Amino acid sequence: MIVLGLEGTAHTLGVGLIDEDYNVLADVRDTYSPEDGGIHPRDASQHMSSVVGEAIQKALSDAGVSIEEISLFSFSQGPGLGPCLRTIGTAARTLALYHNTPLLGVNHCVAHIEVGKVLSGYTDPLVLYVSGANTQVIKLKDGRYRVFGETLDVGLGNMLDKFGREVGLSHPAGPKIEGLAKKGKNLVGLPYVVKGTDMSFSGILTSALQKHQSGAALEDLCFSLQETSFAMLCEVTERALAHVKAKEVLLAGGVGYNKRLQEMVSLVAAEHDAGFSYPEKYMGDNGVMIAMTALKMYRAGVKMKAEETYAHPSQRTDEVDIKW
Ligand code: AMP
Ligand code: MG
Repeated sequence: MIVLGLEGTAHTLGVGLIDEDYNVLADVRDTYSPEDGGIHPRDASQHMSSVVGEAIQKALSDAGVSIEEISLFSFSQGPGLGPCLRTIGTAARTLALYHNTPLLGVNHCVAHIEVGKVLSGYTDPLVLYVSGANTQVIKLKDGRYRVFGETLDVGLGNMLDKFGREVGLSHPAGPKIEGLAKKGKNLVGLPYVVKGTDMSFSGILTSALQKHQSGAALEDLCFSLQETSFAMLCEVTERALAHVKAKEVLLAGGVGYNKRLQEMVSLVAAEHDAGFSYPEKYMGDNGVMIAMTALKMYRAGVKMKAEETYAHPSQRTDEVDIKW
């Protein structure tokens, strides 16, 4: 059985192909980068519609399979930017209807978790999911991924990207901030905002920009942004870990590429005798994670009619029934 997964929630159009044992047969990604400013939903979706056909062809040829050999089509149904979701949803629906093959819409956040579980072999981890738009601490309970704590405003990645945009770093700024942070030495005081098990990042952004204007060194600010916001993530993760007594901690989402964040979260896990893992090549948005989640859904008996596959731009992680 071969499953095709299409990812397209924001910046990256991804096509993943896997077999029935979750082996990756192809992983094609095409990322839209704005010339200046942030991601414009219309431009991002136009980019997707212009590259999706070629990306699917490339994935099929990388894997050495034909489109007729696909037994399940899947795509990211939400959450994400509406125009992008509708573009790839249309592509996936067209293929499935034309080839008379099952189609499944997948929750993007759940997919970030499932790829981590497949690759780590973890069965019941506490998940720290930190991407551009999302920042959540998650644990499966009674058939749903429950959100233990989350951002009350912007996602951490978006906060870093917005800071970067204002100080002249191109999008996405997260990796550039990580590089500059290594040269930072002084911890600049920034608001540390944990409310119960939730977090807020917008005040840190405002404060860091003010300090930038008053002449604080960019390297010190990058260092301080990371240390402060990552410490907040670790506090909430540790509180959740002590509460649910999970034996495994999984880091997911694009900000999880950050080595300093990996180091800090691994220390939290070790303190509580829990394992720590992250899906190294699949932290950022990709089609493989969509295909893997779709395969799990399919095996659990989830079915969708074409008319049930419209986009869910605001679908939350905890709205999805986890039947596998
Ligand atoms: P995603 O939405 O999961 O694809 O993640 C994209 C986000 O991850 C963007 O906000 C990036 O700036 C951020 N990001 C990627 N690499 C890093 C890194 N090394 N350090 C911090 N943030 C990163
Ligand atoms: Mg993502």
